[in-house]
Amino acid sequence: MTTTLARTIPPFKNQAVKTFTDAADAAAMRAALDAIKARFGRHYPLVIDGERIETEKRIRSVNPARPGEVVGETSSATKEQAGAAVAAAARAFESWKHTSAQERAKVLFDAAALLLERRYEYDALLVYEVGKSWPEADGDIAESIDFLEFYAREALRYAQVQPVVPMDGERNELVYIPLGVGAVIPPWNFAGAIMMGMTSAAIVSGNTVVLKPSSDSAVIAAWFVDLLHEVGLPKGVVNFVPGSGAVIGDLIVSHPQVRFISFTGSKEVGLHINELAAKPQPGQKWIKRVIAEMGGKDSIVVAADADLDAAVEGVAVSAFGFQGQKCSACSRAIVEASIYDAFVAKLKDRVAKMTVGDPQDQSTYMGPVVNESALKSISQYIEVGKNEGRLIAGGNRVGTQGYFLEPTVIADVDPKARIAQEEIFGPVLAVIKATDFDHALEIANNTEFGLTGSLYTTDEAKIARAKEEFFVGNLYFNRKSTGAFVGVHPFGGFNMSGTDSKAGGRDYLLLFTQAKSMSRKV
Ligand code: NAD
Repeated sequence: MTTTLARTIPPFKNQAVKTFTDAADAAAMRAALDAIKARFGRHYPLVIDGERIETEKRIRSVNPARPGEVVGETSSATKEQAGAAVAAAARAFESWKHTSAQERAKVLFDAAALLLERRYEYDALLVYEVGKSWPEADGDIAESIDFLEFYAREALRYAQVQPVVPMDGERNELVYIPLGVGAVIPPWNFAGAIMMGMTSAAIVSGNTVVLKPSSDSAVIAAWFVDLLHEVGLPKGVVNFVPGSGAVIGDLIVSHPQVRFISFTGSKEVGLHINELAAKPQPGQKWIKRVIAEMGGKDSIVVAADADLDAAVEGVAVSAFGFQGQKCSACSRAIVEASIYDAFVAKLKDRVAKMTVGDPQDQSTYMGPVVNESALKSISQYIEVGKNEGRLIAGGNRVGTQGYFLEPTVIADVDPKARIAQEEIFGPVLAVIKATDFDHALEIANNTEFGLTGSLYTTDEAKIARAKEEFFVGNLYFNRKSTGAFVGVHPFGGFNMSGTDSKAGGRDYLLLFTQAKSMSRKV
């Protein structure tokens, strides 16, 4: 137990994710879906130094299940406005850095409470804005609340007296101080949780932020920025500048007043940002820190001794939950030869039971992919896959209106084939046959990524080997490869999956601070 500004803070506990089997939950969700639909088409301006600025150029956020429906529009920042946002954040830093950890944590606690109150509205927005099913949407918002609650407590922990070795004749201390202005650049896939987690970690550590959301999920970011101001965040601490990555992204990343970049997204953009940030600009006084969480090509290994039904279930939900658009999604099932045929047959049956449709309907398991360009690129990979293996499920678009694809399984894929190596980020699973467990582990480590992985086995020796050799940031046993919980499964990957920043872990806020060591002769 600890207290902040006269409030008693219970230990952190994860929000339970709603399954909507409870009739009252389902009714509340239906009401929220209606309420949010009535707000479609609204305009959300930029927010710079607390001022709301409308631009002529707009970013349209459409419902991927019904692309004719405009969920909302945001203003689109020019380069000058992006520069003004950095300048506003730099000014706000001068006072925000002096606010106490208690005051900063209070903003997050209050934001979490308000988000909890509005949970169904945010759930409904995610159904419309990015095509999440009800439980997937609620999982995203539950995780958002968890990040706010967790990082608030972490900021208070880091504000406590830090242990240093005592020395006679000196009084020594070490404190964690903020870095400065941060560029926060999130993806659209955990449009609530990653955007809110990255932003809240930065500000609770005493930094100020220029938030450039993904154009596919800019409305939820606009809602969150408003919510932060509603609970009393001072103006200028978070500045909201939607805009094209190519137009304003490079400007923000390379701006000499930006001290750090917190990015989550694709490998290509992450590497580009890392390179750009490494080059010092005239007037820049620091080496920029880059926190870059990037793509994945995640494997589930199914050993010959595994519980086959559990493995099939784990692979199916890891591959096709949220249409495979999770960085942690299983895109490769690596199966030992002796059970391979039985596994493929059972997987085919399981996938046939998955429903694809409008996620407004409670019964939908898989909604649309996020936009037309995702539909095209995933469809191209499916064509590649048909030549690289044996199509055993799916392979087609569903309907002609929204961006729907069938859950697609391609078996007998070579471990070095393109669909076994490149991130597809859609509902496409490659099944790969391994001669034995050694071979399976070798295949599991044969990509440039290293984000999540899972092993199904009943053999303790195989678990022990995987702990040593399966090279991923998040490794699971006898469970799915998706669904990390804040504080429970700190999340981040190795190799080209990123800097392993471990979101939702006890080391995370260190990335947003620098340690100052002070010594006084006594
Ligand atoms: P993306 O790389 O296309 O975009 C991410 C963000 O970068 C967006 O806000 C985009 O507008 C911005 N951006 C694009 N070009 C930019 C530039 N030149 N400068 C600055 N910003 C720029 O990724 P996405 O499609 O939004 O997300 C999907 C990707 O994210 C997948 O690769 C997925 O694996 C990855 N991801 C990783 C994690 C993780 O924790 N490792 C979590 C979620 C998603």
